[in-house]
Amino acid sequence: MTAFDVLIVGGGHAGAAVAHHLVSLGYQGKVGLISAEEHFPYERPPLSKAYLKGEVEAESLAIRDAQFWSDSKIEMILGETVESIDAGAHSVSTSGGAVFGYGSLVWAAGGSARRLRVTGEDLDGVMTLRTLDDASAMKAILASTKRFVIVGGGFVGLEAASVLRGFGIEVTVLESQSRLLQRVTGPVVSDYFLRRHLAEGVDVRLDATVTGIEGADGHVTGVRLADGSIVDADAVLVAVGLVPAVGPLLMAGARGTGCVDVDSFGRTGLPDVYAAGDCTSFPYPPHPDGRARIESIQNAAEQGKVVAEAIHGAERVYEPQPWFWSNQFDIKFKAVGLAFGYSDALVRGDESSDSFSVVYLRGDTVVAVDAVNHMRDYVGARKAVGRRVDLERLADSGQALKDVVVGDEVGAAT
Ligand SMILES: Cc1cc2nc3c(=O)[nH]c(=O)nc-3n(C[C@H](O)[C@H](O)[C@H](O)COP(=O)(O)OP(=O)(O)OC[C@H]3O[C@@H](n4cnc5c(N)ncnc54)[C@H](O)[C@@H]3O)c2cc1C
Repeated sequence: MTAFDVLIVGGGHAGAAVAHHLVSLGYQGKVGLISAEEHFPYERPPLSKAYLKGEVEAESLAIRDAQFWSDSKIEMILGETVESIDAGAHSVSTSGGAVFGYGSLVWAAGGSARRLRVTGEDLDGVMTLRTLDDASAMKAILASTKRFVIVGGGFVGLEAASVLRGFGIEVTVLESQSRLLQRVTGPVVSDYFLRRHLAEGVDVRLDATVTGIEGADGHVTGVRLADGSIVDADAVLVAVGLVPAVGPLLMAGARGTGCVDVDSFGRTGLPDVYAAGDCTSFPYPPHPDGRARIESIQNAAEQGKVVAEAIHGAERVYEPQPWFWSNQFDIKFKAVGLAFGYSDALVRGDESSDSFSVVYLRGDTVVAVDAVNHMRDYVGARKAVGRRVDLERLADSGQALKDVVVGDEVGAAT
């Protein structure tokens, strides 16, 4: 049995961050990284943006070049899925029948695209968009596709819609909620994205529940809605979120419901087992529940660093300031903080224009800022989120956001 001092499961953003941070800390132990995908770690955000558009090639998505992985002496075990963990024996078993031992295990397995679980989902032309292979498969059919239906009005679905419109494809977005991006933003921003997508010719249908996918000769022909109507489609993208990949970890006894709970150092509670990235829920005092699970590059990269430091013996509390971005059409959207548990949402600038921001407040404390084509407020948000502000000056959009801060940061992770 091959044994590693540190074994990382998952070669996405979090797994790569743990690996290269261990290297930069000068860690001398033997490190292995097992990943289900055949590719070296690569950037996922461009999959629904520049890569789908054809602006960049797959090679340019690499988080680190092949030379880095060979120089760092990290053993890359690609195309293998970890199926079980024996926490007592400190070992994992893979789909290929291999067993690897570990001193410390880092679970950074992200998740897989959620499925609708309706009839017809396995027809040709029905796809998801989580991996490079998914994006390549989608790219390959763009030239021959006239009508695309996207199920899900979240960031991935809307980014894909904007790219497809650029190719002149007819796009229908089906969203089961009453507004777009409901899970991640407030109504003003949802309304803005709805207006822009409609203006760009996207047929957006809200409160639209999919009950089945229709096909002929094994290929998709349309999507059936709860009201019995059918939306014709040559291809369908199911973009309805992520299912965290935590099965083996929970089976081994780690805590968590649908994801894995970690503490502020990334520890799962199983001896010497850490986790980072999309699959974790971590202490986050500003959230009403006191914990958060975040799907973002910022979270995967920074939590990965915290885990590497904990393994290296320099524990640091993970106290993130979450941030996220999305590009659609000519819109540059940036969010800082999490727009949950707020009592007020104040718009700075003109929400009917293409440049404004929304500040989410609990009392006079800023919990989050959404900036739509508004770099100045995005930069100011990095200072304002988590702090008290002068509400009168905040309402004056001529005042820089960073200049209206009056109090110290509220709340710290424990
Ligand atoms: C299309 C798209 C666009 C996005 N755009 C943005 C954006 O603009 N901004 C932003 O901040 N975030 C964006 N995200 C989210 C961001 O990519 C994720 O938050 C980030 O990739 C999470 O990193 P991770 O390492 O936790 O998981 P992942 O990147 O998903 O990596 C997990 C890896 O683990 C592997 N794995 C899973 N199970 C096992 C197993 N049992 N054994 C071995 N390997 C396993 C997987 O195959 C995968 O390679 C986007 C995501 C997608 C899909």
